[in-house]
Amino acid sequence: MSAYPLPGGRQISGALRIMFGQQARGGGRWITQPGAEYECFLCDTTVGPVTGATAVTRFVQTIRTTHPTYCRATAQQHFEGAQAA
Ligand SMILES: [Zn+2]
Repeated sequence: MSAYPLPGGRQISGALRIMFGQQARGGGRWITQPGAEYECFLCDTTVGPVTGATAVTRFVQTIRTTHPTYCRATAQQHFEGAQAA
């Protein structure tokens, strides 16, 4: 799979899926744990899923910046960028 083109030269390069889970009334135990996973369309890799409220929060906040650092599809671009700098 590859990126989905959008008007104006933009593209969709990945999909972040979040499962919100279900918590007992009053903020008690989780009946269904929340989860999240990220599918990169550029390198055709799915990262995760991670489960648990803390892990999901951290994952959602960081995956868009951490995945490109090791994405096989963009690693070459990052390498060329580093050389040009
Ligand atoms: Zn990737």
